[in-house]
Amino acid sequence: MPNRSRVIQILDVTATVTWKPMKNLRIRVMAPGDVRVSAPTRTPQRVVERFVRERIDWIHRAESRVRVPKPMGEEEERAARSRLQLILDELAPVWIERLGLSQRGVRFFIRKMTTRWGSCTPSTARIRLALALGKTEPRLVEYVLVHELTHLFEGGHGPAFQARMDAALPDWRARRKALNRLSPR
Ligand SMILES: [Zn+2]
Repeated sequence: MPNRSRVIQILDVTATVTWKPMKNLRIRVMAPGDVRVSAPTRTPQRVVERFVRERIDWIHRAESRVRVPKPMGEEEERAARSRLQLILDELAPVWIERLGLSQRGVRFFIRKMTTRWGSCTPSTARIRLALALGKTEPRLVEYVLVHELTHLFEGGHGPAFQARMDAALPDWRARRKALNRLSPR
């Protein structure tokens, strides 16, 4: 039997319900206004509706968490880029020196990124930084900078990597936490 779908409205939540062969009711909040419910094939609609109603507060909280930032306009992009470049001009030489990387010919590229704040190719010493960093505090840019530079010594994020981060930037975990609340988009 093909999966059956229907849109239901519970208070201010519009949800798409799909009945399919599965064990338990499940709600996923994809984006504000995009709530999806999966229900076992034989679940009556009133049971689904009650399930959603009982979780309205949770759905509202989830919707506010997944709020997708609107893309930067051209002007905003230019501003972010020049601000990030300024911060980088200030911090990069200091950290390259401090970490003993002067001979590595490290080069930086500012790129639009959607899922990561930075990346590093150790073989070429190329480091890419997310354009959106230009909208954050310099201490968060500094964290990403030191993180990516540290990858020139250590590939993964294991104990050796963490030990280097601890030595270089003792509060890096707090900075990472602050950064994780933002989106690189
Ligand atoms: Zn990394």
